[in-house]
Amino acid sequence: MPVLDIADCINETCPWSGDPVQADSLTEFEGHVVGFCNPGCLEKFERAIQHFRAAIAGDENPEEASGGCGASGARGASG
Ligand SMILES: [Zn+2]
Repeated sequence: MPVLDIADCINETCPWSGDPVQADSLTEFEGHVVGFCNPGCLEKFERAIQHFRAAIAGDENPEEASGGCGASGARGASG
């Protein structure tokens, strides 16, 4: 995992608070280094990304366990 350098950060201010980005609050987004004013803001951003990725994967509501349309059984592995 490469070390992120604040010199490579594409933004100067935190998107949440507008405060200047800090060297200990950097992450990589679509190949670019992006920064936040503190690790808490960084964590909020990463949680948002994970939410979107889960939605893309079709697992947006993992807590909603609806066993309605499951194709169970009828899967014979005879040979
Ligand atoms: Zn912030």
